[in-house]
Amino acid sequence: MTDNGILIIFSGPSGSGKGTVLSKVLQNRNDVKLSVSMTTREKRSGEIDGVHYYYVTRDYFEKKISDNKMLEYAEYADNLYGTPKDPVDEMLKEGLAVILEIEVQGAEKIRNLYPDAVSIFLAPPSTAILEERLRGRNTEDDETVNHRLVIAREEIRRAVEYDYLVINDTVDNAVDRIETIINAERLKINRNKKILSEVINNV
Ligand code: 5GP
Repeated sequence: MTDNGILIIFSGPSGSGKGTVLSKVLQNRNDVKLSVSMTTREKRSGEIDGVHYYYVTRDYFEKKISDNKMLEYAEYADNLYGTPKDPVDEMLKEGLAVILEIEVQGAEKIRNLYPDAVSIFLAPPSTAILEERLRGRNTEDDETVNHRLVIAREEIRRAVEYDYLVINDTVDNAVDRIETIINAERLKINRNKKILSEVINNV
């Protein structure tokens, strides 16, 4: 185990397959946990409160911001999304790799707060495939999908701000690549100072 946990920023446009890929990573690893975000958007069918998000009103969300309970938050497609602070700090203390599945504005805030955070951008193989996936999802109307596609193009341009690029050509490949990143990050010297000093003292 590393000295502390690892904070992982995980972004990708709507329709890039973040949910599917992440759920496989979480199934494979018990040292990786996902932070459950809070949102003011409507629950989609199949989503569960407390699992996919905490679904709240704008008033409740704004109160949490003013009480300083959010690590970061952003407005996206006319809704608020944010990361509750306390659970993340607790999981990091336990040495876990904590994934924040957030969009690019939130990612920027987290990088400033936690310079050690690792950021991964999940991209579709092409924007044509992204559009196909978004329309095929059938959970939103045409206008919402079009709006999300415009945002997606802007987001993909900001992938250069991230540490790692993972192309989601197949779910298994993407999962493998993400686990490789986590494994390598865990081995970094600056995440293992305590164990290194023990090794040095015993030489
Ligand atoms: P969706 O409505 O498709 O679930 O999410 C829309 C966008 O909000 C996605 O890009 C997702 O990564 C982002 N998002 C989800 N939770 C958070 C959060 O806590 N903070 C920020 N900044 N973005 C989030």
